[in-house]
Amino acid sequence: MPTYPGPVRIDLHTHSSVSDGTQPPAELVAAAADAGLDVVALTDHDTTAGWQQAGEAADALGLRLVRGMEVSCEAAGASVHLLSYLHDPTSPGLLAEIERSRESRVTRAMRIVERLGVDVPLTWQDVQEHIVEGATIGRPHIADALVARGLATDRGDAFAGLLSSRGSYYVPHYAPDAVEAVALVRQAGGVPVMAHPLARLRGRVVDDGVVEAMAAAGLAGLEVDHRDNAEADRAHLRRLARRLGLFTTGSSDYHGVGKDNRLGENTTEPEVLEEIWSRGHRSATG
Ligand code: AMP
Ligand code: ZN
Ligand code: FE
Ligand code: FE
Repeated sequence: MPTYPGPVRIDLHTHSSVSDGTQPPAELVAAAADAGLDVVALTDHDTTAGWQQAGEAADALGLRLVRGMEVSCEAAGASVHLLSYLHDPTSPGLLAEIERSRESRVTRAMRIVERLGVDVPLTWQDVQEHIVEGATIGRPHIADALVARGLATDRGDAFAGLLSSRGSYYVPHYAPDAVEAVALVRQAGGVPVMAHPLARLRGRVVDDGVVEAMAAAGLAGLEVDHRDNAEADRAHLRRLARRLGLFTTGSSDYHGVGKDNRLGENTTEPEVLEEIWSRGHRSATG
């Protein structure tokens, strides 16, 4: 009788303190092992700075790491998040765009804090205390400062109130066009997957036409099983994926204690992982 391995548990979307998660990459990978995952992707916002540390931890713990990134994009006035797996991190086109986003995120965060500072006791200094050196700055860091100041109970509370994208303190940051970003990820040898395509609670979402344009530019998959996609929307996304020849993934979007999302709460099929692995750039699959 052949012996079969147990089920392989694959989570393809997590954040470390290199962006807005709360654990350093090595700790995140250890948490993934503790959660019973066999494969975990590190997908920090607009940076690959955690890849090395995560890779070393994964090797030490016998976990398979998928090197990834979540690119902040926009399309038709909506915010779009694009997961990029196994791209060459030195590819100039993609690198230039994420550098531009990361710089814009700094000035944008300062402007949000300026606006907030008119009404609540919050300074840029407060926010800086919550950012790891070199990390991609986001609203979650401002949220942490608001919590420390007693102006919000947790990140969720801050996002529901003072930091809402629909509120008067909100300031957007530069983000590349989603269709162009798909092309740049492909140019970098990466595998582009649209993150939480219908996360309606966060703000505006795009219609199918944008997904079609992204597919025409080389999009590979849709992240269907994600807590921010409602059940009815997931059914729609599965049909859309089938029609456009895209695979589907499931992931947690874990942010440590920064969000309720638990590691492995959604998972991806091994066949899909193999497809990602076979399409990825050699420099990132080692
Ligand atoms: P930003 O990229 O600076 O606009 O901030 C968006 C980030 O904040 C996303 O990566 C989310 O993971 C995080 N975020 C959005 N809503 C919430 C929430 N309700 N609680 C905690 N984090 C959130
Ligand atoms: Zn995040
Ligand atoms: Fe996202
Ligand atoms: Fe994310």
